[in-house]
Order: sequence, then structure tokens, then C-alpha cells
Amino acid sequence: MGDPRKTRRYQQCVRNLKAQGDAYCWRGCGTYLYANAPWPHPQCMTLGHIIALEDDPSLFYEASNHAPECIKCNMGDGARRTNRKRKGESTSHRSRIF
Ligand SMILES: [Zn+2]
Repeated sequence: MGDPRKTRRYQQCVRNLKAQGDAYCWRGCGTYLYANAPWPHPQCMTLGHIIALEDDPSLFYEASNHAPECIKCNMGDGARRTNRKRKGESTSHRSRIF
């Protein structure tokens, strides 16, 4: 399975989101995002998922589940998820990698 963020359908979702113009990061961090700012500009708009892919994959392409998100929050969320996953694994009988 490839990265769903690289699909044409997803890229279209990103374009639709940016077409709505500049906006604040939906997570409330106070970062004002520019739809046209290029990556990795600190105010570059990325597509955030209100309900994460891991929680409900069926909402991945759902426009109502999309919101402008800053790079920092987008990446921070990913890191938190990795930690949570790692924590979950530690409860299993297998020893942890780290
Ligand atoms: Zn943010």
C-alpha cells in the first residue's frame, strides 16, 4: 500500500482546501496560514484531518473532515501518534525496540 497523501485524489483535496484562501490553523495554535506559501514556509498551509486517518480511514478524502493546518501541528500530531502506538506495543508480550 502506497502513501495515500501522494494520490491524485488527495492532491485535489489539498487544492480544494487552498482554494478557500488563507486561514488560521484549525488546531488553534494561532498560526495564520497562507494558501500560496510554498513548503516549508512556517505559514505554509497543509491539509489537516479533524478525524485522523488512523481513527477513521473512510473520512480521509472527506472535505468536511479537512481543515487548514500548519506544518508544526501536522507533524506534531504524527509524532504523538507514533508515541501512542509505541506505548501500545509495550503492553504486548514482545519486547520494545527502543
Ligand atoms: Zn497549528
